[in-house]
Amino acid sequence: MGEQSKVCTRCSACTRVCIATRLGVPTGASVLEREDKFTCAGCWKCAEICPQGIDIYKLMMEARRKGELPESFRMGIRNILETGYAMPMRGVNAIREMYRLPPIERVKPEVVKKLLRGVSVA
Ligand code: SF4
Ligand code: SF4
Repeated sequence: MGEQSKVCTRCSACTRVCIATRLGVPTGASVLEREDKFTCAGCWKCAEICPQGIDIYKLMMEARRKGELPESFRMGIRNILETGYAMPMRGVNAIREMYRLPPIERVKPEVVKKLLRGVSVA
C-alpha cells in the first residue's frame, strides 16, 4: 500500500508521543500539520505508533526538502565544511579531561571536505 492510499484519521496518537510537541512546538492533531517541519528530532516514534501505518517521518523529510533551509541548519553545514563538525568542538578535550576521559582524536577537516566535495551552502 502506497503512502498516498493511507489516510490520516487525525487521531493524535503521533502528537502525543512526539518529543517536539512535548517541548512545546505547536502541533495540530497530526504532527504532519505542524508548520515548522525542521523541529522534528527524527526519533520515529510517530511512525511506530500511527495506527494507519503512515510513514510520517518520510513525509516530514519530503516536506523539509521542499521548504527553505533555516539559518541554524545552514550554519551547521558551514561548520561541517570548515571544521568537520556541526557544532564547535573547541575545548572538548579540556572538558573530557575534567571527567577523566581520554582525549578524542579530532576529524581532519580536509578529509571531510574531500568526502563532501560539491556540497555548498549559501
Ligand atoms: S497517528 Fe497517524 S492517523 Fe493518527 S493523527 Fe498521526 S498521522 Fe494521523
Ligand atoms: S520523528 Fe519527529 S515528528 Fe515524529 S515523533 Fe519524532 S520528533 Fe516527532
